[in-house]
Amino acid sequence: MAQRVTLIRGDGIGPELAEATRRVLDASGVAFDWDVVDAGEGVMAEYGTPLPDHVLESIRRNRLAIKGPITTPVGEGFRSVNVALRQALGLYANLRPARSMKGVQSRYENVDLVIVRENTEDLYAGIEHMVGPDAAESIKIITRAASERIARFAFDYAVANGRHKVTAVHKANIMKLSDGLFLESCRTVAAAYAGRIEFEDRIVDNMCMQLVQKPELYDVLVLPNLYGDIVSDLAAGLVGGLGVAPGANIGPEAAVFEAVHGSAPKYAGLNKANPTALILSGALMLRHIGRADAAERVEAAVRDVIAEGVTVTYDLGGTAGTSEFATAIVQRLEAGRPAKQPTASARAS
Ligand code: NAD
Repeated sequence: MAQRVTLIRGDGIGPELAEATRRVLDASGVAFDWDVVDAGEGVMAEYGTPLPDHVLESIRRNRLAIKGPITTPVGEGFRSVNVALRQALGLYANLRPARSMKGVQSRYENVDLVIVRENTEDLYAGIEHMVGPDAAESIKIITRAASERIARFAFDYAVANGRHKVTAVHKANIMKLSDGLFLESCRTVAAAYAGRIEFEDRIVDNMCMQLVQKPELYDVLVLPNLYGDIVSDLAAGLVGGLGVAPGANIGPEAAVFEAVHGSAPKYAGLNKANPTALILSGALMLRHIGRADAAERVEAAVRDVIAEGVTVTYDLGGTAGTSEFATAIVQRLEAGRPAKQPTASARAS
């Protein structure tokens, strides 16, 4: 039976990337039935909201979605649809693998990190207020339940994907209560995986320096929301930037797969943007539904086309458009080239 998936095209470069991703996934060997819906500014006039109920219902029904980026107006207008989706669907885990690829310009080689970011609390709870005219207060919320839940997710991910170590990242030397609770929760969960998955912790500032100096020492990182947001962009930078950085938002009832990058409005409609990040997010979805075989085929086809360097987009030094790049990947898949022996990172990404 075909796998039903909600496809939110997004805006800006979103629709082009969503189409490229749909074509590649249709060639992956898994049959999909796409439920195409729209969200964002373009649906405001019709539905009075950027996130209509039928979009949420479609995701709840299918339990799976792929989402193109959606523009968030700055300073005014509606709240981020991306954040609203995560909250409405309880997508508590943000998974962002960062892996070096031959053919992608970067200062580093052999980076293979997986960032697991808590998605629901910390300073992103959005509780802030003015204290008099000249001071503002923002409340950082860390709970044992959410911290243990994200730590378990990181360890389970490590076990399921053949990874060997989880590093908890915090600032518990200064925020002894909030980050102290996060660290304590990670330690509690780590004890249940002792002997199977190694555990260590790092203070976030030291972690950033270590990642820049010796990223190869690290494997899976688990972080509260704010540090996770920052460190995952740092990790994307280590492997060549936003065009190749995939992501997933996962909860108990649904999972939404999306690139780390945004809607890049200046490239909208130009058939120019790199679809790799959204296609690799699609590969994460294939793993999520237990089709690691198809995920490996897609990842290998993307790797091959990028390594060859002929039919690639501007950001990878080529002149191909989004759709030509996707066609080259589809052709690889259809040619049935056997996927290369999966590496540890291929298994995980
Ligand atoms: P952005 O990621 O959209 O773009 C920054 C720059 O990165 C672009 O100008 C472009 O040079 C490059 N870039 C990004 N994606 C690329 C791709 N696939 N191929 C080639 N180059 C690419 O960041 P921004 O300009 O800060 O944000 C634009 C809009 O996107 C904002 O409204 C923001 O709120 C929104 N946004 C949405 C999401 C999401 O939907 N999850 C995430 C981040 C930002």
